[in-house]
Parts: sequence; structure tokens; C-alpha cells
Amino acid sequence: MKKNYIISIDFGGTKILSALVNSKEGIIARVKKSTKDAATKAELAALLYESIVELLDGNNVLETSVKSICIGAPGSVDPFTGVIGLAPNLGFQNFNIKDALQKFTDIPVLLENDVNLAALGIANFDVAKDKQNVLVVFIGTGIGGGWILNGNIYRGNTYAAGEIGHMHVLDNGPICGCGNKGCFEAVASRSAMVRDIVKDIKSGKRSKLSKLVKAKAQIKSKSLYNAMASADPVTAFHVHKACAAIGKTLAGINNLMNLDMIVLGGGVIEAMKAFTVPIIKTTFNQFSLKQSSKKTKIVVSKLLDDAALYGGIPLTKEFLNIEV
Ligand SMILES: [Zn+2]
Repeated sequence: MKKNYIISIDFGGTKILSALVNSKEGIIARVKKSTKDAATKAELAALLYESIVELLDGNNVLETSVKSICIGAPGSVDPFTGVIGLAPNLGFQNFNIKDALQKFTDIPVLLENDVNLAALGIANFDVAKDKQNVLVVFIGTGIGGGWILNGNIYRGNTYAAGEIGHMHVLDNGPICGCGNKGCFEAVASRSAMVRDIVKDIKSGKRSKLSKLVKAKAQIKSKSLYNAMASADPVTAFHVHKACAAIGKTLAGINNLMNLDMIVLGGGVIEAMKAFTVPIIKTTFNQFSLKQSSKKTKIVVSKLLDDAALYGGIPLTKEFLNIEV
């Protein structure tokens, strides 16, 4: 039988990761590009198409065997028109990426928010398979959320559902990228942890991360992990504080929603699972109503960053009624 595929494109502020995928073989091949190589919207569409051609040619796949191109993008997207509305990390707004890419190819182009796409992947191919009511939370530079409710993706009235990162959690808290103060991601993302650690080091506290701060180097999740592994007190304090905020916020959401499962992913969780998840679970239990949380599982995604690539498969079923 002829094989069918989709091409999934995970489109972020720094990189564009494209993959040839189907449900039988999973991720068959990948191509990576730098978002910085495109200065305009037209160049960006051309760069995406270049990735698609590389995947087709590199794997001897005909365009007719590819049933959809599924783009996952951060920020507010309209999956029905193909417009990326506002994406601060991408540096442009109101971009109809579907129309732009459709100029190069007849393969149907689908668009979805990146965390929603990850939620679809997790609910169909990962730890939340067969679960009906699930919140997916990705903790990295920011904090993103995606809902599966009654077995389906929940997009909300203007497709903006899942913005867990902008729930207000702290009065007079740190300023957030959205302009408000005290948002969840301004308190508990990796950026928030790093900001507070750097502040402590600059005020004279000794830390394993002092060298990186002195060299003005970026502090990534891996460096946080190393500092935690060597019991660095400054890092431990701020990682604990952030994870406690995560546990509390998830408890509040679950008191409201009484979920089957909360799935965690993202750079912070991936790199520091052993240090973060136990604190998140402890605080979650502390602030949960027993009746709401007794059957709610907190689980780490196994697919992690690949979840969004798999999410294109159920998206293709939903919009085109094609199974690949
Ligand atoms: Zn915010």
C-alpha cells in the first residue's frame, strides 16, 4: 500500500524544525533551519518551503504522498484562516502563513498554536492517550498551556485558550512580556528563575553560576541542572520558589477543572525533572482540594519537544478527515 505522510513544522523564535511524520513510523526525518535566515514574511515562507523540499527529496517522497503541512507557531494563531496574529518572539504580526506557503505548494497547509499542537500529540501518542480531560503545561523561556477537554482540543472563543503563563499569581510581582505585573510566567518560568538568580549573584551571593553571570553568558536549563546537582543554594532557593508557584497554580486550576491528568514538558522540566517535579507535586497536593486531586495524575511528557510534530497527525484528521 502507498505510504502517506504529513510534514510538521515547529516554528519558533530561533529555529524552524521540520519533520516527515506518519502514525506508523513516527518521525522519519528532520530538517532544521534558523529563523534568523529570513528577514521578511516572504523570505520566511520561502525558507519553510526549502525545508519541505529537502524533506521530500532527501527521502524520495512525492508531494502527492504528503497530505498536509502542519505548522505549530507560538502566540495567537487562527487555525481557520491561517493567520498568526501576534507573536512577539517572531517579530511580526498578522501574517497569513497559510496563504504565503500555499503560493509554493498545493499540499494543504494547516496552522495551530504550538502548545495546542503539543497537547494533541500528547493526547494521541503520549502519556495522555485515552485521557479525556488534560492540561498540558510547557515550562521554558515562558510558560505555555494547552487543553484537551472531553477528548478534544479546546481553543476558546478567539482561539486564545491555554494562556496559563499570563494568569496573575503575584501582586506587584515582576513585569511580564505582556505588560502586566505578576503573571505566572514572570514568576515561574526559566527566565524568571534566571533573573532572580542573577540578581542575587550581582548583589554579592556566591553561586556555582557566578562565572556564567560574570562572563555575561546565557544561563540555560542545563546550567541550572548542573548547579542543582552540586547543591548550589542560590539556584536551589529560586528553583524551589518557582516550582512551588507552579504547584500552587496547577492546584488552583485543578480545583476548578478536576482533570484526569496534567502533563508537564518544556526545557526546564526536560533538563531538571528530578529536581522540579517532586516540589511541584508536593505543593500541588498541599493546595488541592482532596476531592478534586485524588485521581489527577501529574506526568512528564515522553515526547517532549516532539509532541508538537506528532500533533499534526490528529490535526490533519480534524481539518481534512485524512488519516496518515
Ligand atoms: Zn503576562
